[in-house]
Parts: sequence; structure tokens; C-alpha cells
Amino acid sequence: MADRLTKAARSAHMARIRRRDTRPELIVRRLLHRLGYRFRIQLGGVPGRPDVAFTRRKKAIFIHGCFWHAHEKCSLSRIPKTRTRFWTEKFAANRERDRRLEQAAKDAGWKCLVVWECELKEAAWLERNLVKFLGPKRLRE
Ligand SMILES: [Zn+2]
Repeated sequence: MADRLTKAARSAHMARIRRRDTRPELIVRRLLHRLGYRFRIQLGGVPGRPDVAFTRRKKAIFIHGCFWHAHEKCSLSRIPKTRTRFWTEKFAANRERDRRLEQAAKDAGWKCLVVWECELKEAAWLERNLVKFLGPKRLRE
């Protein structure tokens, strides 16, 4: 049972880490800003708590680090070699939570886009994808 405590403590610790502004989030926000979009971050009232929200457009962006969010078939995502079972369960739970949060936003009428950390390397592609998702820039948020 000592392991359960460790697990809970670790889980709480990881939850804290996840809530902070991560590097992928900062990169996407900087890119959006450079593209001329204005947006709100981590808006409490938006279902699913997306990382970036465009309230007038009702569009939400979820930005996922490939490791913590267990991006499937991605080279940045892997199961650590120790405590494999713990991590496997943890990542399954993370994926399930992501799915639930995105669905909550969609159910409330928000259009959603997920940006993965590994996609940040394809800057031109990502830029096109963001513009396509968001549409014209002039709307004030
Ligand atoms: Zn990835």
C-alpha cells in the first residue's frame, strides 16, 4: 500500500506540472500572436479547459506534449522502462481525460483543434493549419 501513496503523490505532482505553461503552449501562443490572432488562455468558463480559446469564434485549441499526453505512434512518446505498468495506466488515463475534455468542449458547441508537440517542427504546415482552423484574423476576441 506504500506504493499507492507514492502513486497518488506522483500523480498530484504531475498534475501540477501539466497545468503550467508548457514549452509547446508558449510556442503555439507566440505563433498565433505573430499571425495576428488575439486570444484568451486557459479560460475557466470554457468546457474542457482548452489551452487557447477564441471566444467570439468559439474555437478552442488543445496543445499536447507528446510524452505526457501519450501521442500514439510518435517518436517523442514512449513508455519509461521502469514502472512500466504505472506509466501505461497513467498514459491511458491521460488519453482518456484528453478525449473527455475535448468532447466536453465539442458538446458545448466549440470547434476544437489539437496541436501536438511533434507538429511544432513543421512550422509552415502548422501555420497553415492554424489559419485554416481559425479563419480571418480581424475578429476581436
Ligand atoms: Zn507527437
